[in-house]
Amino acid sequence: MIVAMQDTATEEQITMVVEHLVRMGFSVHRTTGERQTVLAAVGARIDFDTRNLEVLSGVQEVHRISAPYKLAGRSFRPQGTVIELGHGVRIGGEEVVVMAGPCSVESREQLFNVAEQISKAGARVLRGGAFKPRSSPYSFQGLGIDALKLLREAGDRFRMLVISEVMEISQIEMMLPYVDILQVGARNMQNFNLLRELGKIKKTILLKRGIAATLEELLLSAEYIMAGGNYNVILCERGIRTFETYTRNTLDISAIPIIHKLSHLPMTSDPSHGTGLRDKVPPMARASIAAGADALLIEVHHDPDRALSDGAQSLYPAQFAKLMDELRMIAPAVGRKVA
Ligand code: PEP
Ligand code: MN
Repeated sequence: MIVAMQDTATEEQITMVVEHLVRMGFSVHRTTGERQTVLAAVGARIDFDTRNLEVLSGVQEVHRISAPYKLAGRSFRPQGTVIELGHGVRIGGEEVVVMAGPCSVESREQLFNVAEQISKAGARVLRGGAFKPRSSPYSFQGLGIDALKLLREAGDRFRMLVISEVMEISQIEMMLPYVDILQVGARNMQNFNLLRELGKIKKTILLKRGIAATLEELLLSAEYIMAGGNYNVILCERGIRTFETYTRNTLDISAIPIIHKLSHLPMTSDPSHGTGLRDKVPPMARASIAAGADALLIEVHHDPDRALSDGAQSLYPAQFAKLMDELRMIAPAVGRKVA
C-alpha cells in the first residue's frame, strides 16, 4: 500500500500514520521528498480497508498495490486455468467454446428443435433456463425440474453439455444430476450465501457479472466460491447498466482482457444480454472472440417472435450458423479455434 501524505502534513501527523500502520501489522518504509512524504507499507491483512487510512489527518491519498482476492488472482496460477468438462470440452484452452440455446426451456419441441440446429452449427454446450430470474413476477418463471430433464435429454441426444441457471440454494441438489455447468445470474452475483454453497460442490460454475458490479467485485464473488474449495469457476461479462438506453445493457468488451490480466479464470462473453438486440449480437460476438474470450453464451430460438423470454435478443438458428462460420475465421487470427 502506498500512502501519500499532504504537503502540509506535520511531522506529528506522519508519525501517527506510521504508528497506525505498524499497529495494523505493516512494515513501513518512509520516503521524505522535498515537498511530500510517501509511506510504502507492506505485509497487511488482505481485508484491510484503505479508508481507515484515508480518514487520518495529513493523509492525501492511499493506493492498494496488492489485490483483495488471492485464489482468483492471476498470480495464484500464472499459466491460466483450463476447465475440463468432459466429452472433450475444455474451457480456457485453445478452443473457444460456444454455448447456445434458448433463454428459457419452453417445451420439448422448442428445445429439441433449437438443440439439433445449434449442435450441427458447432455449439458444444446447450443453454436453457429452467428457473428464470424475471424482472416482473408476472412474467414466465420457467418450467423447473421438467426443463432440467429436457435439457439433459436434448444435450445427450445432440452431444452437447448442459448449462442452466441456479437461483437459490435449495435448487443446487436438484440440478446436479442434470447439468454440467451451473450458471449464477447477474442478479445473484453477490448472493454470498448461494456462492458459499456452490463452493462446497465440484461442479463447474459460470459466474455472471452483476449489472452494476466492478470487475474487482466480480473477482471477489469468484473468491467466495473458490474459498470453499471449488476452483472450477468461469467468469462472464453480460453487459452492465450505463446511461446508454439504445441497448439493453452495455457489453464491456474491455472486461475480457482486463480479467485475463487480473485473473487466471476463463472469461466468457454473453452478447445476447449484453446488447438485448438480435442484430447487434453477431458483431459483439465477433468482437468478443477478437478480444480473447474463452467462451461465448448466445441465445438462439427457432421462433423468437413467440419466445416466452428474451425473443428480441435471440438469434434464428440460421443466423447462429452463419455467425459460427464467421467466428471460425476470426479465431485463428488470435491463436484460437472454434469447433
Ligand atoms: C440468462 O442467461 O438468461 C440470464 C437471465 O442472464 P443474466 O443473469 O445475465 O441476466
Ligand atoms: Mn435470457
